[in-house]
Amino acid sequence: MAEDFPALLLEDRDGRSAGRLTRLTLDDLPDLDVTVEIAFSTLNYKDGLAITGRGKIARRMPLIGGVDLAGTVVSSRDPVWKPGDRVVVNGFGLSETEHGGYSRFQRLKPEWLMRLPDAFTFEQAMGIGTAGYTAALAVDALEAWGAGWGRFTPGEREVLVTGAAGGVGSMAVMLLARAGHTVTAATGRPETHDYLAALGASGFIDRAALAEKGAPLQKERWLGGVDSVGSTTLANALAQTARGGAIAACGLAGGGDLPATVMPHILRGVGLIGIDSVMADMPRREVAWARLARDLPLDLLEKTIRVEPMSALPQLAEEILVGRIRGRVVIDIS
Ligand code: NDP
Repeated sequence: MAEDFPALLLEDRDGRSAGRLTRLTLDDLPDLDVTVEIAFSTLNYKDGLAITGRGKIARRMPLIGGVDLAGTVVSSRDPVWKPGDRVVVNGFGLSETEHGGYSRFQRLKPEWLMRLPDAFTFEQAMGIGTAGYTAALAVDALEAWGAGWGRFTPGEREVLVTGAAGGVGSMAVMLLARAGHTVTAATGRPETHDYLAALGASGFIDRAALAEKGAPLQKERWLGGVDSVGSTTLANALAQTARGGAIAACGLAGGGDLPATVMPHILRGVGLIGIDSVMADMPRREVAWARLARDLPLDLLEKTIRVEPMSALPQLAEEILVGRIRGRVVIDIS
């Protein structure tokens, strides 16, 4: 194993986190049971908040950043994991309370690890990352809603994806189209229409159309949707959802508030489903990753991915917070 290796450390600067590229040794890692050699990590919106200090993500510092990782088990004190196992970790407090994926090596709890489906290389797994796995959880939740209390049968009406050109949005477009839905993408970037059409979107709306405060109940348009924007966008999406439909709320790129009324819920039976990828249990994760392995066309996945070195993280963190990143950024940890 390398004597020292590159890492990005989140440090406390006047009460806010700041990312610094540095070199660490194995002695700097926590004393946990499984040591993983990381091949790739990724850049999520949350990583952007942590590296720039613009959101309170790291709750103890110094802490190695990176919400996601994919790599190979090097050694394990737990019998479930063996050297050579290919694993992926999403969330579980990485970069919040636990050391994360921006490091050549990491020590982790055995129960955080998931076996990487054979369908994916490490690079592809991090192209998916928390964004793709969250989109898969959202589609699973909408289908469960449709199979139970509400409706989610492909073809009945259009489904809406907000923040469509971002990470969660791009993945949701692909998965929903693959499941047979007619997908309308809400984006503020018209230049991404061709890209989104290639992923499976068949209609577009300007995100500004959902950003203004609207009436509590609006014309029924959506069968359901995946929202990564929050705030008035989510409120309007709910107000435009048809009877029995549901919106899976994933994010807050447009704001953490929800200026909405109960009207869509009590007059149209519309559902609001919360998606938490960080602490989702292992069976849910495995179902979501199985959907990704089954449904994600690898040639399309490749279109969403751009690979960058760890040294680019400080700059990329700024860009993701202002919505300039298209699709997914994979971070090469070597
Ligand atoms: P990205 O930055 O890749 O995507 C967010 C997209 O939202 C942007 O590309 C943009 O889409 C749109 N957007 C950005 N700012 C605004 C704004 N002010 N108003 C309206 N739309 C806006 O981020 P991710 O996809 O990685 O994450 C999206 C959200 O989901 C984040 O809030 C993140 O924290 C959350 N998240 C939650 C998870 C969970 O477990 N619940 C897991 C993963 C992410 P466009 O250019 O198309 O308009």
